[in-house]
Amino acid sequence: MESKTSSKPIAVAIDGPVGAGKSSIAREAAKRLGFIYCDTGALYRAVGLFCVRNGVNTKNAADVASQLDKVHIEIRLVNGTQLVFLNGENVSEEIRLPEISMAASAVSAVPEVRAALLDLQRETAAKSSAIMDGRDIGTVVLPNADVKIFLTASPEIRAKRRFDELKAKGSDTTFEDVLRDLNERDYADTHRETAPLKQADDAVLADTSELDFEQSVELVCGIIKGKTAL
Ligand code: C5P
Repeated sequence: MESKTSSKPIAVAIDGPVGAGKSSIAREAAKRLGFIYCDTGALYRAVGLFCVRNGVNTKNAADVASQLDKVHIEIRLVNGTQLVFLNGENVSEEIRLPEISMAASAVSAVPEVRAALLDLQRETAAKSSAIMDGRDIGTVVLPNADVKIFLTASPEIRAKRRFDELKAKGSDTTFEDVLRDLNERDYADTHRETAPLKQADDAVLADTSELDFEQSVELVCGIIKGKTAL
């Protein structure tokens, strides 16, 4: 692993739709380049989890916003892995449940939720060179990022990858459920009023439909190296 010693941290923003492979590709690219990796979807998932646990209707923006003073979210890096804490509890595993995905998507449309998570994301990126992935990193969170990548793949391929991932974890979900969930979340993410998912004007488009994992990681590392002095 190369170590990044430059005094000014390098910021890499990776945005894209559900299941484009952002997390796994960004995590591996960060490891190879000696960057930290920050998965911002985990923060929205933690807010979604809080609402589900406490019976807050995630479709009611005012209800969600009124609960935010009870929600404290922290990112802790342990051996290069990001853990997410909700009110002091490590919820990194629980936030991955499919029902939390929909809750995260619903709460992410609430402007107060997005505002509440903005500083945490910017502070994390300011600490050291980072690859941060999400939906609005290049457009809103880090508009001055050194490198912006919009990572995508066809909906069927993304659903297949997500389905295989859930299956491997023992989930009994079907491919059709995964594809429907993915299309619903993509629609909600691209059509919401606040910080919708879209490619930043200065982002490089990376389509991984035809690429395997290693090729995708190489593509991303190549784009980052090409845009920085690494
Ligand atoms: O990336 P992941 O699927 O874990 O994100 C969960 C949900 O959080 C997404 O469906 C999206 O609605 C929301 N999200 C967001 N902005 C981000 C990251 C995630 O709105 N930067």
